[in-house]
Amino acid sequence: EAKAQGRNRYAFFEASLQKALEEDVRLCEALRQALEGDAGADEPLALHLQPIVSLREGKLHHFEALLRWGKAPPSRFIPLAERRGLIRPLGRWVLQRAARLASAWGIPISVNVSPSELTGDFARELEQVMREAAVAPGGLILEITEAAILAEGTQAVLEQLRALGVPLHLDDFGSGYSSLEYLVHLPIDTLKLGQGFLRALGDPPELSSPADRVVRAVVSLGKSLELAVIAEGIESETQLEYLKGLGVQMGQGYFLGRPAGESSAATRWGLGL
Ligand code: C2E
Ligand code: MG
Ligand code: MG
Ligand code: MG
Repeated sequence: EAKAQGRNRYAFFEASLQKALEEDVRLCEALRQALEGDAGADEPLALHLQPIVSLREGKLHHFEALLRWGKAPPSRFIPLAERRGLIRPLGRWVLQRAARLASAWGIPISVNVSPSELTGDFARELEQVMREAAVAPGGLILEITEAAILAEGTQAVLEQLRALGVPLHLDDFGSGYSSLEYLVHLPIDTLKLGQGFLRALGDPPELSSPADRVVRAVVSLGKSLELAVIAEGIESETQLEYLKGLGVQMGQGYFLGRPAGESSAATRWGLGL
């Protein structure tokens, strides 16, 4: 009896694993088609652009490019692409598209890069993409995560990128295994304060709370290391006022502007396409 039940449970487990695997393979094939721009692809790839705004003047500073693919969230298909060896071609697609927009609009665009992209000839490939699209130096910004810094072999690529003058923004700062040591050694220009800080503060932000003290400490760390700070996830005016009061230079979030498709972003921000 018990044995039979155990067998059933195992069979169930195996069946759901099997299903997850098949779903992975199906999605991966569809993603490959989208990447090849197949006429048969159900869902094309697209970029959404979200403004990063200088808080003092309320002016557009640059856009972050966020990849879109049908209804699947990036948290689903980016890890899939990483697992299945598609992240380099996918990342290249994003870089080329972003480079064209940055060149056409004359506005810098930041692109998220996965740790596994920061290997081999990445810096040279990026240089080529920028040259082909005639993007000014600084016109493409890379957003990297703490995971990328810790990954084997990325240091050399980061140094090459620094030599090329590519601005590097440290994404989701404070949400991973933050080590303060690499802030001193690495060629990083800007810290992006992860959304978690604002979530933890509450809205309106609770002054003198532990979260408030941590945010103030990080902002002053940024100042003393001469790193610009971008606050992520600003959803209200009270959060915006709080961050301005702290002297945070830039912000991003639904309150300042949601991610939007290329043509709506161009219309909204008065850019020529
Ligand atoms: P991220 O780089 O931290 O991007 C910011 C995420 O926060 C985006 O989610 C954006 O839509 C969302 N967001 C912006 N403002 C607000 C706000 O006020 N409130 C809330 N709740 N969320 C806000 P999205 O587009 O779902 O992307 C998720 C993650 O996927 C990104 O996090 C990034 O790590 C990754 N990603 C997106 N596009 C790419 C890409 O082209 N390449 C790679 N490697 N990763 C990407
Ligand atoms: Mg990012
Ligand atoms: Mg982020
Ligand atoms: Mg992220």
